[in-house]
Amino acid sequence: MNMKMKVAISYLSLGSNIGDRLDYLRQATRLLNEHNAISVMKISSVYETTAWGLENQADFYNLALEIKTSLPPDELLSTCQDIEIKLARTREILWGPRTIDIDILLYENVKLSGQSLTIPHKYLLERSFVTIPLAEIAPDEQVKGVKISTVAKRHSKLESKCLKTAYKVEI
Ligand code: ADP
Ligand code: MG
Repeated sequence: MNMKMKVAISYLSLGSNIGDRLDYLRQATRLLNEHNAISVMKISSVYETTAWGLENQADFYNLALEIKTSLPPDELLSTCQDIEIKLARTREILWGPRTIDIDILLYENVKLSGQSLTIPHKYLLERSFVTIPLAEIAPDEQVKGVKISTVAKRHSKLESKCLKTAYKVEI
C-alpha cells in the first residue's frame, strides 16, 4: 500500500456456509490482504453461527476483520464483490449458492445510505454473528451511540448460536 495515499480503517464481516467454510474464510482474508490497496490489520476468532433470516440452511462460519485501505468505500465494495465471485468460481457452481459473503461493516466515520452501499451496515447491531466477532477486535467502536462491546454482550446471552471455535485464520 502506498502510504502517501489517504488511508482509512474499515471493518468487514466474512461468512461462509458451503463447502470448506474455514478455507473460504482463509482464502478471502488472504485475497483481501494481497490487494495492493488493502492491509489486513486484525482478525477475530472464527465463530460457528446459526443462519440468520432464511432458516433451513447449514450453519455459518463467521469472522470480522480490521483493514487499512486507500480505496474509497465504493471501490472497497467492488473489490469485496470481485473476491466473492473469484471464490465462488473456483467451485464452478454456475448458479449455485455463494461460498463467501463479504460485507462492509464500518468505514471510518462515514455514513452512506445508497441502494448499493449502506455504511454502517444496515443490520450491524441486529446480528450476533457480526457484533460478537467485531467486539473482539473493535470493542470501543460506536454505532448509533451504542458501543459494540455492549451490544455483543447482550447478544451473547441470546438463544441464537454464535460459538467461538478453536480455528484461527492467519495471514
Ligand atoms: P447479504 O450480504 O445481505 O447476505 P448480498 O451479499 O447478496 O447479501 O448483498 C446484497 C447487496 O447488498 C449487494 O449487492 C450490495 O450492493 C449491498 N450492500 C449494501 N450495503 C452493503 C455493505 N455495507 N456491505 C456489503 N454489501 C452492501
Ligand atoms: Mg453481502
